[in-house]
Amino acid sequence: MTRKREGMFSGRTSRSMERPKINYGYLNLPDDLDVFKPEGSTEVVFDVLPYKVTDPNHLDNKKYSDDAVKGEYWWKRPLKVHRSVGPDEISIVCPTTVGKKCPICEYGTRRRKEGAEWDELKMIFPKDRTLFLIVPVDAQECEVDYVEGKVHLIDQSDHLFLEYINDQVKRDIDFENFPDPFNGLSLQVYWRKRKLGKNTFAEASKIDFIERAEQYDEAFLESLPSLDDMIVILDYKEIEALYFGMEGFEEDDYDTANLRIEEKEDEEERPRRKGRSERTPVTNRQMKKAATEEDVEEDVEEDVKPKPLMRKTSTIEKTKEERVRRRPVKKEEIGENECPFGHTFGEDTDEYDDCNLCGVLEECREEKDNRK
Ligand SMILES: [Zn+2]
Repeated sequence: MTRKREGMFSGRTSRSMERPKINYGYLNLPDDLDVFKPEGSTEVVFDVLPYKVTDPNHLDNKKYSDDAVKGEYWWKRPLKVHRSVGPDEISIVCPTTVGKKCPICEYGTRRRKEGAEWDELKMIFPKDRTLFLIVPVDAQECEVDYVEGKVHLIDQSDHLFLEYINDQVKRDIDFENFPDPFNGLSLQVYWRKRKLGKNTFAEASKIDFIERAEQYDEAFLESLPSLDDMIVILDYKEIEALYFGMEGFEEDDYDTANLRIEEKEDEEERPRRKGRSERTPVTNRQMKKAATEEDVEEDVEEDVKPKPLMRKTSTIEKTKEERVRRRPVKKEEIGENECPFGHTFGEDTDEYDDCNLCGVLEECREEKDNRK
């Protein structure tokens, strides 16, 4: 193919200035699927559309066998995500999302039995998120131009979005057919800026179900990608190696390491955290560092069983010490481009425990990215 004769930077200056796509390492997105990331203080109208389930272990199917059945359409894809895994502190999908065993959850269960504090456990167990396919109908208030009429992905922490849908549907059960492609309703969502712990983020503070201007047809529905196929699940051993820092982990080591743990469990009250081979997480930073923005205060997961879908954040447990330590930083205390804790703005990003409490962490991260 011969390229049209163009300027040296045609099509490149603009793309080089685009904001980077959010890192979705735990999702493998089709090229033509854009992500809708809600911004605070905006009102958006969009339709939630169902996708064809391809995973026989869909978590909603485990709850009700006639929901989320493989080969049929379903309106959402629950996801469990471990944050800050391994030295690079990546996010990975917990394999229990697709009905598989997870070494991190197993470690968490063990730590819980050993009486570990909530502070530690919440960093081990996965956070609940949900993926949705949506079509923006009116996103004028957003700074980013979402393409109206085109399907996008929403990947949101449950207590920022799903729980509000639940509240609204409970209020009027007639709304529950809203994701119906042929006879559904649009969601008019007001995303408000909210600070939780350390960060500002968009939360669906008000949801109204309104009549759709247009419904969808079979052909459009058929063209939608399956959310199940986007989920990246690492192998058990891969996760184990990543989390516990067992590089060059071999099959034989695996059995030995497991044996060692079983033995350890029989011994009581002996400090367990000695070496990597005894399966302690590769870095303590992830114990100290809060996962991400919106997930900080989520509840701990019950073993590997699917949790009740709609949980309230009112179950937050905090130790006394944590309550004292976690003093939120007031807006007026924060100068522009200044770290409220005396670290270097745009440089020490995510390096300190204080970052978990920081109201300007997003800005700090942006600054850091800009400096790269
Ligand atoms: Zn897990």
